[in-house]
Amino acid sequence: SNIFFRPIEKINAVIESYPKGIAGFKRYVELLDTEPDIVDAKDATEAKSLSGDIRFNNVTFGYEQGRDILKSINLSIRAGETIAFVGPSGAGKTTICSLLPRFYDVDKGSITVDGKDIRKLKLQSLRKNIGIVQQDVFLFSGTIRQNIAYGDLKATDEQIWEAARRASLLDMIKQLPDGMDTVIGERGVKLSGGQKQRMAIARMFLKNPPILILDEATSALDTETEAMIQKSLSELSQGRTTLVIAHRLATIKNADRIIVVDESGIAEQGSHQELIASGGIYSRLHHAQYQYS
Ligand code: ATP
Repeated sequence: SNIFFRPIEKINAVIESYPKGIAGFKRYVELLDTEPDIVDAKDATEAKSLSGDIRFNNVTFGYEQGRDILKSINLSIRAGETIAFVGPSGAGKTTICSLLPRFYDVDKGSITVDGKDIRKLKLQSLRKNIGIVQQDVFLFSGTIRQNIAYGDLKATDEQIWEAARRASLLDMIKQLPDGMDTVIGERGVKLSGGQKQRMAIARMFLKNPPILILDEATSALDTETEAMIQKSLSELSQGRTTLVIAHRLATIKNADRIIVVDESGIAEQGSHQELIASGGIYSRLHHAQYQYS
């Protein structure tokens, strides 16, 4: 089955080996509000619990002057919808997603959440409403419990266990010498890639944000781990607006809407069935996979 979606993996390239993009903004995630360029507007208001209706209105953005990566992007995402971004490497999928938590601000146009321009929301309160799960998970040297609780420092023990359960971590925890109190990281037990991802998912269950950005792993996981992660992620995305930088065909097929991004911007969008029927880029890609696998 891996061969089946290998071409999609290839065109999405590997963010992991890429110093910029979402991996670059990981450092910002860790620094959060110490980000120097983005400051609260004087009249910024608190984003209470958002429902997660997202609009990109004529968004133009480039990292450098004179080189626009996104040109007049228009995109409307309903609260609770799951969107899969696909397209060639460098097209701007990660860039689109990194504008939402304001790792960068748009050059032209605006992004609104629940009708409010995100530049008019207090940065910290905006980011409280957005959860990011990526393959390069930030874990610190401490216990499993402490690492999960990082998702919500006020979480009760019961909530931490519940998050671990929903992230399919209970079997792993049972097998560890000190269970939930096992120290991980440099001085403790090393977790596998799949286990780290489930830790990140557990945190998100605790954080409970209405908006989720998912940078899907391209690294190979064994089938069983893969299935567990898929299941936990699909449960996590329930009732949240979810933006996936997608690499796996299963994720793409299950999305409410697929957005194909290329150099020209949003090239096409629709469900898997619709895009296959329309005979565009997505359908050519899909047929090529059948032909060569
Ligand atoms: P991939 O699937 O390879 O991650 P992508 O579609 O997510 O690709 P982006 O990572 O958004 O594409 O990159 C879009 C363009 O912006 C690329 O040309 C890339 O080189 C450039 N870019 C991305 N991050 C930065 C950055 N921090 N500084 C300068 N240029 C950047």
